[in-house]
Amino acid sequence: MQPKVFVTRALPEEGLNILREVAEVKVWEEELPPPREVLLQETAAVDGLLSLLTDRVDAELMDRARNLKVISNYAVGFDNIDIPAATRRGIMVTNTPGVLTETSADLAFALLMASARRIVEADKFVRAGKWKTWGPMLMLGRDVYGATLGIVGLGRIGYAVAKRARGFDMRVLYYSRNRNEQAERELGLEYAELDRLLKESDFVSLHVPLTANTRHLINKETLGLMKKTAILINTSRGPVVDEKALYEALVNGDIAGAGLDVTDPEPPEMDNPLLQLDNVTILPHIGSASVATRTRMATIAARNLVAGLKGEVPEHLVNKEVLEKLQK
Ligand code: NAP
Repeated sequence: MQPKVFVTRALPEEGLNILREVAEVKVWEEELPPPREVLLQETAAVDGLLSLLTDRVDAELMDRARNLKVISNYAVGFDNIDIPAATRRGIMVTNTPGVLTETSADLAFALLMASARRIVEADKFVRAGKWKTWGPMLMLGRDVYGATLGIVGLGRIGYAVAKRARGFDMRVLYYSRNRNEQAERELGLEYAELDRLLKESDFVSLHVPLTANTRHLINKETLGLMKKTAILINTSRGPVVDEKALYEALVNGDIAGAGLDVTDPEPPEMDNPLLQLDNVTILPHIGSASVATRTRMATIAARNLVAGLKGEVPEHLVNKEVLEKLQK
């Protein structure tokens, strides 16, 4: 009998076809994620789950899904999955690192440029018929070239953003859990503790995963260290920033602007006051959203799932400790 797989949203066909070769596949075709009850019901009898960052995959789900062997997350981040709970139950968890790095870095840099030069605000201005003539004081922004960029979390995407910054002659500081001397040599980066990075940067770009240690890493106190002229870019995960503190900092003029690809929650409530601010650009979590990258992610997520179903070690196994458990 073929293993059963539940895919929580329609994905590029290239990935689904890989799954269909080996498994009985059910795809949730709706635009919105499966409601909690549906997710629990649909996963109760499956061997494999292909999940998205909008699905909460917790101990309750795993306890109900008695046959579940592998959870393949269609993302590099996996904060939506209770990893220790999966490991304890001998369930493999996989992600899609690497293939989305450059696309996500492009978006982070696009958001940085858009925020610096007020691109979205300026476009709205023209469409609203407010543009009367060329103006010496019209829509003045901040220079990107030659400015200081502070990268928080120098992993795959942080490094790729630093590479782009070099092309703009930026001075690049970084703060990360570990120093990366090779990256310092390759790209001329300078390591700085978080406080110094925040004090000296014109742009601060966040690239850490969401963990207990990074939740609200950017808060009232850390925002208070930033320059009044600085712009915060968040393409990591919404809860890395305390949004209430961010709003206060923006209206009080403690920082100059923000570019957010991620919010907390997603989507933001329509009465979220951040939506009223002209100096904030907000995108609907589209960091990896290019045709080519989403197709590659689907292929990789499917291959990870198939490997797990076959009892092989998937290429992108997140909880390597699970292998010990499975060998016992
Ligand atoms: P990665 O290669 O694992 O990089 C994360 C970096 O953050 C690592 O260098 C890590 O240090 C560092 N880090 C972890 N915890 C830290 C802490 N407490 N303080 C300081 N640094 C810390 O991951 P990635 O592929 O670059 O992706 C980064 C994140 O971006 C993902 O987790 C995801 O949430 C987000 N993302 C968003 C989008 C989007 O659509 N907006 C797309 C892709 C990814 P070590 O190397 O020492 O572990």
